[in-house]
Amino acid sequence: MRATLLFALAPFLAAQEVRTPRIEGLVAAIEAPRLQATVTKLVSFGTRHTLSDTTSTTRGIGAARIWLAEEFARHTKIPGSRLQPFEDRFTADKGPRIPAPTELVNLGVLLPGTDPARGKEAIVLTGHYDSRASEALDATSDAPGAVDDGSGTAMMLELARVMATEKPAVSVYFVAVAGEEQGLVGSAHLAKRLKAEGVNVLAMLSVDIAGNSEGQDGVKDNVTARLWSEGVSVVETPEQRKLRLALGNENDGPAREWARYVKRLGERYVENLELLVMLRRDRIARGSDHMSFSLEGFPAACLRESHEHYDRQHQNVRTEKDRTYGDDLAHFDAFYSAKLCRALCASVAALAAAPAPVKELHLGGAVSPDTKFRWTLPPDPRITGLLLYRRRADGVTWQRIQRLPLTSAWTLKDVVPDSNVYALATVDAEGHESLPTAPTHLD
Ligand SMILES: [Zn+2]
Repeated sequence: MRATLLFALAPFLAAQEVRTPRIEGLVAAIEAPRLQATVTKLVSFGTRHTLSDTTSTTRGIGAARIWLAEEFARHTKIPGSRLQPFEDRFTADKGPRIPAPTELVNLGVLLPGTDPARGKEAIVLTGHYDSRASEALDATSDAPGAVDDGSGTAMMLELARVMATEKPAVSVYFVAVAGEEQGLVGSAHLAKRLKAEGVNVLAMLSVDIAGNSEGQDGVKDNVTARLWSEGVSVVETPEQRKLRLALGNENDGPAREWARYVKRLGERYVENLELLVMLRRDRIARGSDHMSFSLEGFPAACLRESHEHYDRQHQNVRTEKDRTYGDDLAHFDAFYSAKLCRALCASVAALAAAPAPVKELHLGGAVSPDTKFRWTLPPDPRITGLLLYRRRADGVTWQRIQRLPLTSAWTLKDVVPDSNVYALATVDAEGHESLPTAPTHLD
């Protein structure tokens, strides 16, 4: 009896709990003091407003840009480093928050993929290094931007450092983007550029405001963070819409699957952390750089602290009636930020090493007691198994992960299709999981 029960549970537990020593090592290498040092340096530039001074080496966005370029370059020289410098320099047109054409520079490093068959596939991570004060066009007042978004920028440097010698299957871009506060201008250019270059962005994540652990609501919280993602693609085609309505899959667009992936992998490798899959593209009436990638049709999410403090965002540094304003260093929690960085590290290291995802998944069995699947796998020799994800249709996150053999079809007996949501992922011998593919066809 006992043996039978263990046998029955084994496939679910095995699929959920695989930790690899390689990823554990990467996660352990993330250092909170390094995040603290980077944010301290970024704050020291006074302002990093997109329209601020570009010639000084001590103040303004130009100084920040020079320093960041040097730091990323340093990571390319780590012994065994495979990182390549990456720069996306362009002149932004005049716009609502760009009074005259202005040169913007997104910069970072690229960790090239090693699978030649997947040479155009990539994961893109960003933090924005520009900052702002109370007025959107104020380029001279102090705008320390410690949490918004020194935190995300620091994570880009730290992730690049710990992953420098990795040999992932697909490429990973670690980018500090500019112009976020001027209307996502830098990331919009980056997303369009990558699309024009034929890069297939499997997953993108913007880390934006991820280092404050004491919210304006009075809550102190260093054990949760939020993942924002669109449930329905903003550029959904009429055919995709038809399928989505037939399946009722408005909570299972590719961006949402990516957010769930970050939650699952992040929580697997980082203790005392819960990542909340928010069923929203972003906060109400606000946004971040992931939205630029969504507009190009790429699965994109945003990682952010759970309790923001609005006195620290988009505020001139000042004290009024004993109340302090400004995004200063004193309110950046490197310990908390490092946890989020570790969660992201685990997710990216796993996905970048995973085999190619399932191409086509047919769902069948409507008006029957059984759920039927058939699928087409990519020609990736590293695929050793499949993971069938399942949750009841009132659930937010996956409840069961069942390992399937390398067949091309499967039937779940006595599982009524209507009451569950499904997706299928590939997995390699070490347990690296691809992003799950929601049904692409109805049989
Ligand atoms: Zn921001």
